[in-house]
Amino acid sequence: MDEGLIRQWDFDRGALCFHCRSEAVQRIEVLPKAIVVTCADCGAERHYELESSQVTKQRPRFDRDTSRLRYDAWKFLREARCPHCGNRTRNEFTITEQAASIVCPACSFSRIYTFHAYSTSKRWSL
Ligand SMILES: [Zn+2]
Ligand SMILES: [Zn+2]
Repeated sequence: MDEGLIRQWDFDRGALCFHCRSEAVQRIEVLPKAIVVTCADCGAERHYELESSQVTKQRPRFDRDTSRLRYDAWKFLREARCPHCGNRTRNEFTITEQAASIVCPACSFSRIYTFHAYSTSKRWSL
């Protein structure tokens, strides 16, 4: 796997913040080994660390955990180059409180991230 093909993505999405529970823009950065989601309202950052990456026939499923989740999973598409097959595809993102995944629809290459930690910015401490 060529790590160099993974780019940093940065985009905004209005959603219910898992931390301050208000509707706010959530900035999502996809780094080679981690995902960081920052709430524009309260400044809380959620860090997810890459747990595994593999080509899988089965999509990652978070369904089992749904009963324990307080918030809906965020699902959306982002066009990007797949680090596995090299095609530009509409990658499928899923982010929940506890885990995140990115799946390439062309080759089924999946990256699974698990929740690691919260950190808060200066804005939060005000
Ligand atoms: Zn927030
Ligand atoms: Zn692919």
